[in-house]
Amino acid sequence: MSGVESDLTSNFCSSGRFIINQITLDFPPLARSGAHQTNMNTQNLSQFGFREWDIASQLLHALAENNWNSEADGLGDGMQLEFNPQSTCVFLTDNKSNVVMLNQKEKLENWLSCWGCREEGFRSEVSFSHRGLCEKCAKKESKK
Ligand SMILES: [Zn+2]
Repeated sequence: MSGVESDLTSNFCSSGRFIINQITLDFPPLARSGAHQTNMNTQNLSQFGFREWDIASQLLHALAENNWNSEADGLGDGMQLEFNPQSTCVFLTDNKSNVVMLNQKEKLENWLSCWGCREEGFRSEVSFSHRGLCEKCAKKESKK
C-alpha cells in the first residue's frame, strides 16, 4: 500500500470511495495513522495521527485563504475539526452537522448526505433536493 501512502492527495475524502475500497477494507486505518483505537468520530486532536493532522492543517489553511468551491458552500456556528476513524475522513463540521472537506481541486466544499438512503458526495457531484434528498428518495417522498 506504499503507493497510497506516498500520494497524500489520494487520502482526501474527495476520493471517498477510493478510500473506502482501498484503505478501510485493506487494513485498519488506525494502525497506519497511529491514532488511538476507537471507532467513534472524534474532535480530540490528540486522537488524530500524523496523516490526520496534515489534512486538518490543509483544511485550516484553505479556511484562512477563504478557498471555497462556490458561494453555496459554507459552515455555520460551532465549527470544529472532526476525524472519522472508520472512513478515515478528516473534515470540518458545525452545530448543524454540515460537513466540509477538500475536493480534488483542494477547495473547501460541502459534503452532502441523503438522509433517506445515505448516498453522499460533494455538492457539485450530487443533485439533491433542497430538503437534502437524492433524486430517488425525493421521488419516493413526493409519492407519499
Ligand atoms: Zn436517497
